[in-house]
Amino acid sequence: MTPIKLVILDRDGTINEDSDDFVKSPDEWKPLPGALEAIARLNHAGWHTVVVSNQSGLGRGLFEVSDLNAIHAKMHQMLAAVGGRIDAVFYCPHSPDEACQCRKPASGLFEQIADRYGLDLKNVPVVGDSARDLIAGAAVGCEPHLVQTGKGAVYRGRPLSDAFPPTTHVHENLSSFVDFLLSREEEQT
Ligand SMILES: [Mg+2]
Ligand SMILES: [Zn+2]
Repeated sequence: MTPIKLVILDRDGTINEDSDDFVKSPDEWKPLPGALEAIARLNHAGWHTVVVSNQSGLGRGLFEVSDLNAIHAKMHQMLAAVGGRIDAVFYCPHSPDEACQCRKPASGLFEQIADRYGLDLKNVPVVGDSARDLIAGAAVGCEPHLVQTGKGAVYRGRPLSDAFPPTTHVHENLSSFVDFLLSREEEQT
């Protein structure tokens, strides 16, 4: 039996434009150039994708679960239009002061994925635009990949801070991550 090929993706700043004012409505959800096509390429190569996202705007009362569902409906729809698919979205609804176990850099969302899929997440690639995404994934054995979009844009042409897991791979954007992953896979087969 072949194990499932899974990539875990952050949402804001990785798939869509990040916003300091939070993404509160479908109109405010804007995919980054090439990001949806990159996910579709992963899918076509047999990779499943799931999203893990801190959505503290819920806990802060900035938007409702129905708004978040509408945002994700737009994401799934636009992705389907280019032939891609995200299997599931795991999100933390809490505000930072709730001290939950699921807000990244805590690893609760990753444990939920492991449970849902009955998977060990060791070496499963996690892709995000900030250290907390990668710290959360690395805590359960994921392979960390930073994209230099969203909050990661500050690391263009600059070394990573000590906050990042030491094994962090760096890519210009989600599409370059996919290039990397698929060419590595090619070499291994
Ligand atoms: Mg992000
Ligand atoms: Zn939480």
